[in-house]
Amino acid sequence: MLLSQIKSLAKAYKEEVISNRRHLHANPELSFKEFKTAEFVETKLKEIGITEIDKKATTGWSALIKGKNPDKKVIALRADMDALPIIEANDVPYKSKNLGVMHACGHDAHTASLLGAAKILHEIKDQFEGTIKLIFQPGEELVPGGASLMIKDGVLQNPRPDGILGQHVMPFIPAGKVGFRPGLYMASTDELYITVNGKGGHGAMPETFIDPVLIASHMIVALQQIVSRVANPKIPSVLSFGRVEALGATNVIPNEVKIQGTFRTLDEAWRSKAHEKMLQIARGIVEGMGGQLDFEIRKGYPFLKNEPELTARSMDAAREYLGEENVLDLDIWMAAEDFAFYSQEIDGCFYRLGTRNEARGIISGVHTPTFDIEEDALEIGAGLMAWLAVSELSKGKSLPNLR
Ligand SMILES: [Zn+2]
Ligand SMILES: [Zn+2]
Repeated sequence: MLLSQIKSLAKAYKEEVISNRRHLHANPELSFKEFKTAEFVETKLKEIGITEIDKKATTGWSALIKGKNPDKKVIALRADMDALPIIEANDVPYKSKNLGVMHACGHDAHTASLLGAAKILHEIKDQFEGTIKLIFQPGEELVPGGASLMIKDGVLQNPRPDGILGQHVMPFIPAGKVGFRPGLYMASTDELYITVNGKGGHGAMPETFIDPVLIASHMIVALQQIVSRVANPKIPSVLSFGRVEALGATNVIPNEVKIQGTFRTLDEAWRSKAHEKMLQIARGIVEGMGGQLDFEIRKGYPFLKNEPELTARSMDAAREYLGEENVLDLDIWMAAEDFAFYSQEIDGCFYRLGTRNEARGIISGVHTPTFDIEEDALEIGAGLMAWLAVSELSKGKSLPNLR
């Protein structure tokens, strides 16, 4: 039976997946500079025997594993490959050799897992119908997001996938378990860059000047009305300002205040409206108080929705693979993820791979210098992904005429 065959292959390839992950972890590369990583992935795909490989978006790959009747249905599996500008603080044999760059978001685990899944799927390709499209993408961590560039470069064409699955490590879920959420899951993200201009001078004579510090303070408070009074309470929204820079002194009113923040939500129509409202409120306050406003909104990733039926089928398949008790329901997560670009185009399911091991002190969050994973989870990272793909090929809707 295919399920037990995939499980035993995942067990057999576990050490290789771990070793690939360690190689990637020790040799991390920043977003859109994944040249050696891409070379490594290409070499491994060729070693497996996969021949239909296409370069996409400079450092990304799209590759095909064709089963019997390859046009029947196409499922895409996605991994991201980039690392972060963080100095690794872990003392491990596979510690980053590239000082100041670290796989602190687990993309090394995603890439190694997808290579493992590819090896399994290639081996059993005469036992399923349809095609698996492997997507190894660059630049998840940096706007505009590698996913958007992969899509522009045609990764969702020839053949067009009927659905796409992506997995991400989750240090809050114990290794051995996975988590899913059908429907809305992660937020859109926009970066806010604001400058409030006034007229600086001696702090003892405020009547002579226009104080941008006071104006900016009012503006920050007023902008919170977007979340508390303008947003529909049923749509989660977050507005946070993490940087306020007024370079005056005890007795100096500065000329300007620079502010940076983030706006996140889970609805595209509301997202656009919120942008307009923020500009309107900020302009009203700043100009009303005699200052001048420069307000730039840099749009990041869209919100991430998991297609409910694909996700429900994937959850059923995960329960078959791991047992009922190891498949968790997740809550909404207000971080962003560029997988959202794929799931805006085709049915998507982005799920979480538990990588926590408290006994071994593996508890740090992603994007921290002490982040690590319990590597035992990689057996599931590879095997479950292969199983979800063949399960999805064998059931659910098939839309060959729409391709
Ligand atoms: Zn990240
Ligand atoms: Zn990530």
